Amino acid sequence: PGAATQDLIAASDEHSAHNYHPLPVVIATAEGAWMTDVEGRRYLDMLAGYSALNFGHGNRRLIEAAQAQLERVTLTSRAFHHDRFAEFCTRLAELCGMETVLPMNTGAEAVETAVKTARKWGYRVKGVPDGRARIVVAGDNFHGRTTTIVSFSTDPEARADFGPYTPGFDIVPYGDLAALREAVTEDTVAVLLEPIQGEAGVLVPPAGYLAAVRELTRERDVLFIADEIQSGLGRTGRTFACEHEGVVPDMYVLGKALGGGVVPVSAVVSSKAVLGVFRPGEHGSTFGGNPLACAVGLEVIAMLRGGEFQQRATELGEHLHAELGLLTGTGKVAQVRGRGLWAGVDIDPAHGTGREISEKLMARGVLVKDTHGSTIRIAPPLVISKEDLDWGLDQLRAVLGA
Ligand code: PLP
Repeated sequence: PGAATQDLIAASDEHSAHNYHPLPVVIATAEGAWMTDVEGRRYLDMLAGYSALNFGHGNRRLIEAAQAQLERVTLTSRAFHHDRFAEFCTRLAELCGMETVLPMNTGAEAVETAVKTARKWGYRVKGVPDGRARIVVAGDNFHGRTTTIVSFSTDPEARADFGPYTPGFDIVPYGDLAALREAVTEDTVAVLLEPIQGEAGVLVPPAGYLAAVRELTRERDVLFIADEIQSGLGRTGRTFACEHEGVVPDMYVLGKALGGGVVPVSAVVSSKAVLGVFRPGEHGSTFGGNPLACAVGLEVIAMLRGGEFQQRATELGEHLHAELGLLTGTGKVAQVRGRGLWAGVDIDPAHGTGREISEKLMARGVLVKDTHGSTIRIAPPLVISKEDLDWGLDQLRAVLGA
């Protein structure tokens, strides 16, 4: 890295908490699937802000929607109504095929909202005795970083030293239906799952799992909550990853791409019967559902209604997985998983750690992020061209010597 990069990283290290270990690149500008650093070097973005940038950097429709709204009104708080709120909630409910929206800002806040909703629904509607509500979650989950959410993480790094932990969660292995069936009791109010586990390394559950979870939760009067914060909004080739199994959960938890990488926008979307449990004063957020968030979110929803981003993720995803599949034959790659324009690639440990591969890719102008030691995640903006995707894959082959 050049002097400008080194100076800026040193200054960050000096004055910020070290809760991340970023690749040593300092981005200054970005457009579409490309980012440019402070030295003028260009990089293909194959991470897309963990799928927050599904529509690409500087997407004109999103920037224009944001700019127009910046000139009108940006924040009212929910103490007053504003004129973008009804349309945002209506259109988002429509996109989800559901009735009711509760907007928040970050993913973790939306998951917290889902947990609170499920508990309140359990006491008020299902009739669970006070203080006994339980929620079943999967091992290796990632739902965010709040104290309650890390309480049901199985990742020691995410949990250690953050106790005392919030009780009321039962953890079963992801994809194991028998274990899930056993874990559900009369006090269970919800099953909370990622339809594809992102941070775990893009783990796709066994075929039929989500459909079976749907059936079980319906039979046992338990809410099925799908955390589609990373998997949803086009990434897998459908609006929601649940659609691949024809499953409609009781609640979607959305974030990341809902704000198009422009502003943080998250939401819980469900039925009137479920979200109707809230009364004024029982939950909220100063910024949740603010006019700027609604304006950008509305444009995201409009783009997804057209279906072309989902189509693109399907087509480019087939190509991506065909190419990555060839790499498994070389012995350099142990396994490839994923769906649509989203892949977890397990590097054979003999050929380097995920971090080493990521750094070598960076040197060749491709930005990805490693996870869990030997995995790299590939999730470029859905607007990436096939030529750019192929170029990125060429760099991966070169780094692996495949
Ligand atoms: N849920 C899932 C499935 C995620 O992938 C993430 C972020 O990676 C979150 C929740 C947390 O979102 P945020 O970082 O916006 O709090």
